[in-house]
Amino acid sequence: MKTLKIAIQKSGRLNEKSVELLKNCGLSFENYKSSLISPVSNFPLEILFLRDDDIPEYVQDGIADLGIVGENVIHETEVDVAYLQKLGFGKCSLKLAIPNNSDIQSISDLNGKSIATSYPVILKKFLAGHNVVSDIRTISGSVEIAPGLGLSDAICDLVSTGGTLISNGLKPFGDVMYSEAVLIGRKGEEQNPLIVELIDRVQSVLRAKETKYVVLNIERKNIEQIKALLPGIKSPTVVPLAEEGWVAVHTVIPEKDFWSKISQLKAAGAEGIVVMPIEKIIL
Ligand code: ATP
Ligand code: ZN
Repeated sequence: MKTLKIAIQKSGRLNEKSVELLKNCGLSFENYKSSLISPVSNFPLEILFLRDDDIPEYVQDGIADLGIVGENVIHETEVDVAYLQKLGFGKCSLKLAIPNNSDIQSISDLNGKSIATSYPVILKKFLAGHNVVSDIRTISGSVEIAPGLGLSDAICDLVSTGGTLISNGLKPFGDVMYSEAVLIGRKGEEQNPLIVELIDRVQSVLRAKETKYVVLNIERKNIEQIKALLPGIKSPTVVPLAEEGWVAVHTVIPEKDFWSKISQLKAAGAEGIVVMPIEKIIL
């Protein structure tokens, strides 16, 4: 079967998490910073390390079969690719921001104003949707310093925590798009068995990340109360302990309501709670 190629960011915000995800999928490869291409020794796959801006087009044009890239870059490059899986990292928002002392109050106030951005395509569409025409100034980096330099009245930039905006005397003012890293592929190739296998592996890693494995001890008489706290999960595994009347319960808890669940379990009499990360969940 033909060896696949997957393009990931060579260095930058998505590189480390992309490499980690592929390694967690059981793929074995060298992560040399100097090489452009790295073969996977235990799967017919090669990893291409590229600038993120180039990844969508490489995939669209078939130079790579798969890619990991931010949704923002896909929209900006206007490529036609298949979205295979959201990956849950690289989360950020493309936001409008204005200087703290700006008199701009609504999106329509941006009419005729200048906006600095590295995302002119997305911004132009967004403004058109609001019947606003602004002077879009495309700059490739350090967009947040543009208003201070007198280059623009507002900016449109990627924000995750918002710290960079604050330290540049800017305040967020409107959301243009939400973005996270996604696995993309070439349209029409989704049924390729190697791609299906890789998506399966990625999904089993993602599912595992969303959950924790929990073992706890409880008096047998409290078992129904504990079961009631664990809805949506097939009945937990219950193992008798050497101490009469006590059992160990093994179960899986979603990460998102983990702490509230743990305190409810404690209140219901759970003791000696052990929490473990899960590597993969294969359905
Ligand atoms: P390259 O050298 O590959 O062109 P870059 O400088 O364009 O890299 P990075 O800053 O490494 O890009 O960001 C890569 C992606 O990470 C962004 O396109 C976006 O999807 C995501 N991201 C997550 N949080 C942020 C953030 N706070 N600022 C910028 N990008 C973010
Ligand atoms: Zn880039």
